Parts: sequence; C-alpha cells; structure tokens
Amino acid sequence: MAETKSICLLPGDGIGPEITAEAVKILGVIGDRFGVTFEFDEALLGGIAIDTTGSPLPDETLVKAKAADAVLLAAIGGPKWDTTDPGKPRPEQGLLGIRKELELFANLRPVKIFPALRSASTLKDEALEGVDMLIVRELTGGVYFGKRARETDIPGAATDGGAGMRAYDTMEYSEYEIDRITHVAFDAARGRKGVVHSIDKANVLESSRLWREVAHRVAADYPDVEIIDQLVDNTAMQLIRRPAQFDVMVTSNLFGDILSDEASMLTGSLGMLASASLGDGTALYEPSHGSAPDIAGQGVANPLAMLLSVEMMLRYSFQMNEAADALSSAIESVLDEGWRTRDIADAQTADEFLVGTSRMGDLVIERL
Ligand code: NAD
Repeated sequence: MAETKSICLLPGDGIGPEITAEAVKILGVIGDRFGVTFEFDEALLGGIAIDTTGSPLPDETLVKAKAADAVLLAAIGGPKWDTTDPGKPRPEQGLLGIRKELELFANLRPVKIFPALRSASTLKDEALEGVDMLIVRELTGGVYFGKRARETDIPGAATDGGAGMRAYDTMEYSEYEIDRITHVAFDAARGRKGVVHSIDKANVLESSRLWREVAHRVAADYPDVEIIDQLVDNTAMQLIRRPAQFDVMVTSNLFGDILSDEASMLTGSLGMLASASLGDGTALYEPSHGSAPDIAGQGVANPLAMLLSVEMMLRYSFQMNEAADALSSAIESVLDEGWRTRDIADAQTADEFLVGTSRMGDLVIERL
C-alpha cells in the first residue's frame, strides 16, 4: 500500500485558492509517480477565516495544522480586511499566530536564478552566473523578541537637553537557539555545495560573539561542510558584488530579515520565490508573495512560487528529494521553453507563450 502523507492546505485569500489548486493537481501526479498518497485537509486562515468565523486563526485550523505532516499556505490578506482599528481582527494575525503556535524557528528562503528569467534582475548578467543560495534565518529570537521598553523622564534625553524619552530593544540569543538554527543550516548544506556562511557582527556585538562560538562548535560535527564567518555589513555588499559565492547562509532574525529581502531582489521576480518555516513539529511552506488582490479571480496568477514551495515541502518534510528534483527541473524546462505568466513576461514573449495559472500548472505536469 502507498505511503500516506497528510497536508493541511490553507488557500487563504485573493489568488490563494487559484494557486493552491495547481499545487494539489501537481501533488496528485507526483504521488502517483512516486508511490505516495497525499491526503489534503483544507482549513481557513486570514480574511476568509475572519468572514466565516470572526477569527483570522480559528482553533480548528490550528488543530488541523498541528495534526498534519506539513502545512501548505498560499497567501492571506486584501483591502477588504484592511483596518487601523486595533479592536478589529486582521488577516496577518492569522499568519503570525500560526507561525508562533507551530514554533517555527527557522525560515528558509532559496534564491535561485532561473537562466531564462535573468533579464528580470536589476543586476548585470555576469554577476548572476551560478547564483543558487539558501538563506536560513532565525525566526523566533533576537532583537524582535528581546527585552524592549520606552522610558520617560530620562535626564538629558530630550532634544533640548532636558528630561525626555529613551527606547531600547535587546538582541538576545541563547546557546540553544543558535545551536538549533545552525544545525538546520549545516544539514541543508550537506545536500548542497557544502558551504555555510555564518553571518554576524562579532566585531561589535556580544550576542554575535556567542553566535560565532556556537556556530563553530556545531561546525565541528560536520567535517564535510566548510564554515565561513562573514560580517553582516560585508555580506550586504557581497550579495550585490558576487552573489554566486554563497551556498547556505545562516543568520539571526534581524540580519536575516534584511539580507533575505536584499537577496530576493537578485531574481527580480516576486512570483518565483518560495519559503519554508521549520520547527520541531509540523513545518509550513508558502510562497513569498502576497494575495495579489489586483489580479484575484482572473486566472492569470503565477503558480510557480507555490509550486516551488511544494518542492521545498517534498524535500524538507517528506525527504522526497528525487520528486523535488523532478519538479524543479520541470519548472526550469517550462521557463527555458519560453512559457510565461503575465508577471514574468517581457517584450520578447510571444502571445502564444503567454499562459494563465491553470495552463502553467499543466505545462509543469507535462514535463514532470
Ligand atoms: P502582493 O505580493 O500580493 O502583490 C504585489 C504585486 O505583485 C501585485 O501587483 C501582484 O499582482 C503581483 N503578484 C504577487 N504575486 C503574484 C503572482 N503569484 N502572480 C502574479 N502576480 C503576482 O503584495 P501586496 O500587493 O503588497 O499585498 C496584497 C495583500 O497581500 C495585502 O493584504 C498584504 O497584507 C498581503 N500579503 C500577504 C502575504 C502572505 O500571505 N504571506 C505576504 C505579503 C503580503
């Protein structure tokens, strides 16, 4: 009997349901091909959950997500639910809530240049040769979660030299937190080129000095993987100067937030970026783009970031590397042949190669 994998689907809002349909279609084919039965359990998150239940993250969704082998989220949000009223629920609360509840401490973002889409990047063609990196960002610690406060009546703090306000945020990391995120990076590097850049600011910050110490302790367990320390300011520069030098990059929450956005722009196409968030339990996979309300319901959304999220799910949650490789090659073939959704089309794209969401999914399936 075929092995069964359960997937909690969170189609969410906007183009979410359209791109989710393509993911389900492709998983059906991959399941048949690789002898796995994927079972889908759909749940509500974001705006649709607010409309249906009043909450952006209903209890039932959490129960389903925790019980599944993996969670596949499309996108949430839209103008319908935009509000500045703090008393009203917002779709993003669902997203942050589920990440917190699943204790997803590692965020993985691959940045890969598809040769056929190089012209979409703002960098020169020769700088993009060989770019294929994975950014591993710590997601539940650091300055975003450290001690913070705003103090008043602090002598000398006001602009006129009198008593005024002062605020601080604290960058805290424990050995445990650094150890577990570094392990994720080294494990990932083993299946890639075997190089980990550990990014810190150890020339200034104590938390970075601890980061570096623990990273090297972990590195000792992986003699087959090379560790390279790099300061975050230098990394910001190197990402633009020679991005192909990076294989796996591991870094703290704040540095990772900034560097992953910088790196994502190397590709130039938002509709092509996937991400995985891993914890000790169920992992969550999602495209990096939003719900694109401007094109929702038109059948023109690019499903490829969603399919690349499926690729990550196959790799990280199901250890189906062969299937993941097959999906990745199929996507690359479709792009090499010139097929484009509207968002990644350019002046060279002939009308007959301009396709919608469902046709793009079919083209990938045909090449699997
Ligand atoms: P967006 O990513 O939804 O859209 C930005 C632009 O990119 C739009 O022109 C859109 O049409 C286009 N685009 C995005 N994904 C595309 C795809 N797959 N195919 C074709 N075109 C695509 O960002 P936004 O407009 O700033 O936000 C819209 C809504 O999405 C907001 O409510 C926002 O809060 C939410 N959002 C959600 C997530 C998430 O679910 N993780 C992330 C970002 C934004």
